[in-house]
Amino acid sequence: MDLTLSEEHQALKESAAAFVDKEVVPFAAEWDRAEQVDRAIVGKLGRAGLLGLGVPEELGGSGGDMFAYCLAIEELGRGDQAIRGIVSVSLGLVGKSIARFGTPEQQERWLPGICSGEMVGCFGLTEPGVGSDAGNLTTKAVRDGGDYLITGSKQFITNGNWADVALVMARTGGEGGRGVSAFLVPTDSAGFSTTKITDKLGLRGQDTAALHLDAVRVPASAMLGEEGRGFTVAMTALDRGRTSIAASAVGLSTACLDAALDYAASREQFGRTIAGHQLVQQLLVETQVERDAARLLVWRAADLCDRGQPFRAEASAAKYYAAESAVRAANRCLQVFGGYGFVEEYPLAKYLRDARVLTLYEGTTQVQTLLLGRALTGVSAF
Ligand SMILES: Cc1cc2nc3c(=O)[nH]c(=O)nc-3n(C[C@H](O)[C@H](O)[C@H](O)COP(=O)(O)OP(=O)(O)OC[C@H]3O[C@@H](n4cnc5c(N)ncnc54)[C@H](O)[C@@H]3O)c2cc1C
Repeated sequence: MDLTLSEEHQALKESAAAFVDKEVVPFAAEWDRAEQVDRAIVGKLGRAGLLGLGVPEELGGSGGDMFAYCLAIEELGRGDQAIRGIVSVSLGLVGKSIARFGTPEQQERWLPGICSGEMVGCFGLTEPGVGSDAGNLTTKAVRDGGDYLITGSKQFITNGNWADVALVMARTGGEGGRGVSAFLVPTDSAGFSTTKITDKLGLRGQDTAALHLDAVRVPASAMLGEEGRGFTVAMTALDRGRTSIAASAVGLSTACLDAALDYAASREQFGRTIAGHQLVQQLLVETQVERDAARLLVWRAADLCDRGQPFRAEASAAKYYAAESAVRAANRCLQVFGGYGFVEEYPLAKYLRDARVLTLYEGTTQVQTLLLGRALTGVSAF
């Protein structure tokens, strides 16, 4: 793997960084306090091409490969996890699934809007009673003539209140993952409603919702991919999703490190800046080395993906390590701030709150461990 960024990748990274520094970083703390990001950011992300990365231009996207997507996501993750999550879900899980599995009609209906930021997508896999064991989901889609009637609930759905389209995994028959199909459900359908989830530890500005589907009628043409292949649609999305969550975690570790380096260079104790104390240097260096190692795991998974090679285990390894190391980064860098790390006036408190979810969603650290264990030993411990 060539570790030098191509000119194209370097230019994309720089333009994503410039966007984040202008449109995200100055507002992130305020959005967090208000528990609401300014929705205008979605259009701005779209105009900057950040909601079309990885979707071919002829389908309304801005093109580029998985590596490019991960570079942009790392920058967004450095700026704000709540904003990065909008992109990860609307584009990464929903838009890219439509690009990959959709019919020309589905692509034409949804992709230009999602990629321009005029529309938002959400991804409905988790249910109140089913999280890690997603293959046993209970939302049902029952055939009724040329339609399906979908009934069930989805929990913790990012962009859930904002979305124009929900990619909903529902059981069409049979047990386990093989009985699941995926549907593109317009959120203005009769019987579709949402409840906002508030009081989150982190990602406070991000829209999170419970979805309620009460006999929501969709035509059979709303099915994404083949009947009984919905779990494959979801898992294919999550292979890429986990790689990009890892990229985002790398960005968050960088934000923690940058803030801690600045603080360590200006704060004086015992007659010198704290950057000159060995144990503070240890906190900073451990953060830097883990951040760099996590980035290499992300690049390995993205590179395999772009070469068309299997990368499921590598995506899990990147997610496993980068998410846990981002929590450690936030914790260590908060330590560098001493008592000032504990108050919201400084950024580390928010970074630590936002880091925590990275080890939970798109497969917890334990789930990634079991996936890696299965790949390593050939024995499933699920
Ligand atoms: C802010 C936020 C946004 C989210 N966005 C979305 C979204 O957009 N779409 C969506 O579908 N979901 C979303 N989720 C849901 C998320 O993916 C789930 O919360 C996650 O998969 C874990 O499921 P759970 O919460 O039901 O925990 P559970 O599955 O109940 O797990 C509880 C604990 O048990 C452990 N555990 C479970 N099974 C095993 C096992 N076999 N071996 C060892 N340990 C095990 C887990 O690791 C965890 O520690 C979001 C969650 C949050 C918090």
